[in-house]
Amino acid sequence: MKASSGTTVIEGCRLFDGTGAAARDNQAIHFTDGVITYVGDQDGQPAFDPSHVEHISAEGMTVTPGLVEAHFHPTYFNVSELADLDIKYPVEYVTLLAAANAKLALECGYTSARSGGSLFNIDVWLKKAIAEDVVVGPRLSANGREICGVGGLMDWNPDYRKIGMEGLVLLINGPEEARSAVRKLVKDGVEWVKTYPTGDAAAPDVNDHHTLCMTFEEMHAVVETAHNHKLKVTGHCRATEGIKNALLAGYDCLEHGTFMDDETMDLLLERDVPVVPALYFELASIENGPAFNMPQAVIDGHQETLDGGVESAKRILREGGRIGLGGDYGFAWNPHGDYAKEISFFVNYVGFTAEEALMCATKTGAEIMGASDQIGTLETGKLADLLVINGDPFDDIRILEDRTQFYAVIQNGIIKAGQALN
Ligand SMILES: [Zn+2]
Repeated sequence: MKASSGTTVIEGCRLFDGTGAAARDNQAIHFTDGVITYVGDQDGQPAFDPSHVEHISAEGMTVTPGLVEAHFHPTYFNVSELADLDIKYPVEYVTLLAAANAKLALECGYTSARSGGSLFNIDVWLKKAIAEDVVVGPRLSANGREICGVGGLMDWNPDYRKIGMEGLVLLINGPEEARSAVRKLVKDGVEWVKTYPTGDAAAPDVNDHHTLCMTFEEMHAVVETAHNHKLKVTGHCRATEGIKNALLAGYDCLEHGTFMDDETMDLLLERDVPVVPALYFELASIENGPAFNMPQAVIDGHQETLDGGVESAKRILREGGRIGLGGDYGFAWNPHGDYAKEISFFVNYVGFTAEEALMCATKTGAEIMGASDQIGTLETGKLADLLVINGDPFDDIRILEDRTQFYAVIQNGIIKAGQALN
């Protein structure tokens, strides 16, 4: 990814650096060739020659680290039926849609993202296209096709149709097949292996949120093989037993972490495994699902998931665990572009402070990506991925939901989106 050339100086702003320090006024930030060289009081900033820098007067504006979408599905194309995900479009068209979603995410202030699973192997190539400036989008940490047990949540096409589930998942029976699925993903070039240890409210009949979709032995085989090849493993974990299995099998991250008892909470905290609740999806399903003919049993399941997920997320944060924010956007009732609703939801519904939610959406996201030495906080030596917001998210966090309120979305020191480009 190209970096800016020369120096940019932003002055007069309120600044939240994401390290845990409170937002401060009258701040300045300097970056040269895409790397931050100064963050701090405007009064103490190094001298610069105004005729040789790009200068942004940011009085009344707030600067924050670029946001990190920690559960991003660029290939999910706002489907109104789950079954459409796998069969509606060919890989060629889904790839174009994924590129459009990546551009939208960047415009929404997300300068980085960790994929939560991909159709075909698109995210690996999307990551390359973004890194080589072919298309714009968040710096991407790529997932591939997801792994699920035969008959589990993601194995919904009936056998008599003879179409399999090839676009979306690798289906396995037993540890040997789990190993070979991971080996295939190694060749595909993914960084993350996404699995389905449990079901979901979306499938109330045979794979609901208390059902297991993989055995411990299969999960352990996935982790052993993935770690051998230096890949990381995560999984869709709702049921308590599935969460426990994932923690005991050595998972690197948990998606959702919905129903946790004391034992799983202790295990989670002991191993310091980050959790990405992706929880606004549940509220969006309850509120918007009826307009898309979502059955009542599914909505009831989402309500139970929402309640359990809120309780677990609060507890994880309160007891010193790590939460990343990302939100399964890509369904008609929870479409791309709404990403920051996850952040305001965690403030206004779950009860995190704006500072806590923003740190989850920046610092912890960077940690999950394994990139906290480069991004996630605004500190000298880190990459200049940042937002200049035309207002104050600590006054009303919902300003982040409105991308027209970004004065500048800056990635690698370059203004990629926002009013400054108009
Ligand atoms: Zn997902």
